[in-house]
Amino acid sequence: MARILVTGGAGFLGSHLCERLLEADHDVLCVDNYFTGSKRNVEHLLQNPRFEVLRHDVTFPLYVEVDQIYNLACPASPVHYQFDPVQTTKTSVHGAINMLGLAKRVKARILQASTSEVYGDPEVHPQPEGYWGKVNPIGIRSCYDEGKRCAETLFFDYWRQHQLEIKVMRIFNTYGPRMHPSDGRVVSNFVVQALKGEPITIYGDGSQTRSFCYVDDLIEGMIRLMNTPADFTGPVNIGNPGEFTMLQLAERVIALTGSKSELVFHPLPQDDPKQRRPDISLAREVLDWQPTIALEQGLQKTIDYFAKVVKA
Ligand code: NAD
Ligand code: UDP
Ligand code: UDP
Repeated sequence: MARILVTGGAGFLGSHLCERLLEADHDVLCVDNYFTGSKRNVEHLLQNPRFEVLRHDVTFPLYVEVDQIYNLACPASPVHYQFDPVQTTKTSVHGAINMLGLAKRVKARILQASTSEVYGDPEVHPQPEGYWGKVNPIGIRSCYDEGKRCAETLFFDYWRQHQLEIKVMRIFNTYGPRMHPSDGRVVSNFVVQALKGEPITIYGDGSQTRSFCYVDDLIEGMIRLMNTPADFTGPVNIGNPGEFTMLQLAERVIALTGSKSELVFHPLPQDDPKQRRPDISLAREVLDWQPTIALEQGLQKTIDYFAKVVKA
């Protein structure tokens, strides 16, 4: 049993992580400024005496005593991270410095929720961890992409310079229950639109691809990574290698919901990556991990969730 800090713990992934850590009888401190997360995501955990929640912004120092830190604080949806881009970079960079400083002081092991966005609009497909990426440093996605890249740099420098036990996880698009209905990411948008019978918004011609991982698989990979031997740092890709165009995703959502929604086409946002699929050989080898939930299965669980929270 350990004392574990989860930053961004009231968000989509963070709340699932807190739940899993509590199930394993750990003490969990959830830290969140509720920018995109919500108290409702962790409400069901509040009666557990091992669970604590603290409203705090990770761009400010934090002094607590913990054994492990999962650093997830950062808005993940383009709509939200572009709302206040300066704050997004601060969250990734100052947030990483503060959490690394904390880890250094208390000698905690620390995991960074990095992203497939570090590969940008990739020229190598699928993406292995050794690929350095193709990222625009001055575009509208840069606050997120470059912030996360800089956080990775800080993690590796604290590892080299201060011998911290670091773990860097590159998360590919993940979906599931507890995404916010107005999160703005593609799976929640399509499911909510289909359930409401509203037009399904395809950006561009819908031929761009993504690989979608169900949240339970992702959290399993994250916990396995945290518990690897001290000399293993990553970075490790965690995602589902199944690759779909946005048109294929829309078709599946329509079929599973039985929706009468039609497709409408909107302009493709600037710097929107054309393709993305993880090479998960390293995760298979080191973590003995691979996704177990196929897109249809995960979408059905997500649809069942949204059907309860979204009123037509
Ligand atoms: P989310 O927006 O639901 O969760 C992020 C959480 O961080 C929210 O609860 C938010 O309120 C909190 N937060 C934001 N800024 C903060 C700050 N300055 N201080 C404290 N808390 C702050 O998104 P998510 O999908 O759960 O993503 C969690 C992490 O995983 C993020 O770091 C994200 O970049 C990373 N990630 C997610 C995906 C994905 O597909 N879900 C993919 C790649 C990386
Ligand atoms: N920090 C923190 N909690 C701690 C220790 C440090 O939030 O328990 C922050 C603090 O703001 C500091 C940053 O982490 O500036 C980096 O810490 P480090 O020890 O690496 O550097 P320094 O204190 O020299 O700036
Ligand atoms: N997208 C879309 N319709 C939407 C929301 C997103 O077609 O309503 C597209 C978006 O342009 C991108 C893909 O779906 O090509 C994934 O977008 P998301 O914001 O979920 O994640 P990211 O672009 O960060 O991978």
